[in-house]
Amino acid sequence: MKTVFVAKETHAGETRVALVPGDVKRLKEMGLEVTVQSGAGRQALFSDEQYTAAGAQIAADAAALAQADIVLRVRKPALEDVAHYKKGALSLSYLDPFNEKPLVDALALAQVCAVSLEMIPRTTLAQSMDVLSSQSNLAGYRSVILAANRLTGILPMMMTPAGTINPARFFIIGAGVAGLQAIATAKRLGARVEAYDTRPVVEEQVRSLGAKFVTIDVGETGQTQQGYAKELTPEQLEKQRQGMVKACAAANVVITTAKVFGRKSPVLLTKEMLKGLKPGTLVLDMAVETGGNVEGSKPDEELTTENGVHVIGCAALECDVPTNASQMFSANLANFLEHFYDAGQKAVVLNRDDEILKGCLLTDGGKIVHPRFQ
Ligand code: NAD
Repeated sequence: MKTVFVAKETHAGETRVALVPGDVKRLKEMGLEVTVQSGAGRQALFSDEQYTAAGAQIAADAAALAQADIVLRVRKPALEDVAHYKKGALSLSYLDPFNEKPLVDALALAQVCAVSLEMIPRTTLAQSMDVLSSQSNLAGYRSVILAANRLTGILPMMMTPAGTINPARFFIIGAGVAGLQAIATAKRLGARVEAYDTRPVVEEQVRSLGAKFVTIDVGETGQTQQGYAKELTPEQLEKQRQGMVKACAAANVVITTAKVFGRKSPVLLTKEMLKGLKPGTLVLDMAVETGGNVEGSKPDEELTTENGVHVIGCAALECDVPTNASQMFSANLANFLEHFYDAGQKAVVLNRDDEILKGCLLTDGGKIVHPRFQ
């Protein structure tokens, strides 16, 4: 595989690009030819001229896709585009495979080798290719900045001759990659932070960032081999909701990031619970795209309850920082390609026995090959 096509994103609100000019150079050093669709990097502030200077060709439209051995995108391809892929081409992008059965079927039918970036194993070796982590990290940071901009008060404690202002109080629910970065950012800005997660290992990580871990006894919880949370039973979820009432009521900002990989996110704040929050409290639901942690939240929409609580459905906050988000996403993809680079053949060669590939390759040779989607 020697030719690479970088598509311009078409999803509304998507501002990132899958490959930045700096990584074009890396791919060129591997002997790959890179073609970038004109304007692909514009919103992330990477111009066609920068791509050309890095050694890429610019294509006026997506027609060049049909000649590419490797197609790079951020978002999943549109169903109607799949037929244009070259047989045997490698497609690297998010695929949202748990919700996109027809797309996965179409990729198999078109004989595309489709990698779902969501499925890259969470192992030490694959860490440098892990887009879920790189993008969640930025989204977690961005959530706190958004909240700081919207609050009617400041985050840090201030002792002045005019009196003392107490720090803003944040409650972060779900302390994975996004949640831990939200905690760290809120702490850096001087807020008082509490957090909760069902995975017991997280308690120590939360404390090490200087935040308070809210202890709730919901019984047996745990995590999968990949480090993901296990789904709670309805009874456990109810216990969790009751255990969070106090922390929610004390907060000026509640940020929810609680997800269960491959499943709908749990509803952790019901409409009834929102009634117990202070007027002006900001509730940022970062799990909104996978069903939402807050009852009634919708992607990219804000609703205000009768008691003045603002619920903001935060979809893909990393798109607010497209330059850095693209840099990290691009580095993840370049690391993936480098992993499969064969110096002898001066090409990317997919080794079907490779553990990383086995984890994330969904379709190959006209079939769905990933056991989870067969
Ligand atoms: P995620 O986005 O799937 O979930 C976010 C958080 O929500 C998780 O911490 C999860 O435990 C939590 N959660 C789920 N249900 C909850 C509930 N009812 N209440 C409160 N919290 C709930 O997870 P993620 O952030 O992508 O990653 C989770 C973990 O995976 C990381 O913390 C890490 O341990 C591991 N990880 C490992 C690697 C690696 O080894 N390469 C890379 C990334 C992540």
